[in-house]
Amino acid sequence: MPSPKRFIAGAVCPRCAEMDKIKMHTTDEGNQVRECVACGFSDAVSEQKEPQVPELETRVNKRTNTDDHTVQQVVFFKAGQED
Ligand SMILES: [Zn+2]
Repeated sequence: MPSPKRFIAGAVCPRCAEMDKIKMHTTDEGNQVRECVACGFSDAVSEQKEPQVPELETRVNKRTNTDDHTVQQVVFFKAGQED
């Protein structure tokens, strides 16, 4: 069931950077669509629990294992240090 369009308080338009111009509604298909009344920007938002939270890039995902293999195992022997 479509929900009535409502403005999102504090939302900033990604295109024109106007605040409080974004309104959001849900389509019949259940997609959330946000629209900017200032510049006409519209964006379909996939179903998310928290649409305001940007997706974070984690270091784990970006890290490559090649760094680990480039570490050379160099062992320094302390020769002649006997008492
Ligand atoms: Zn806008």
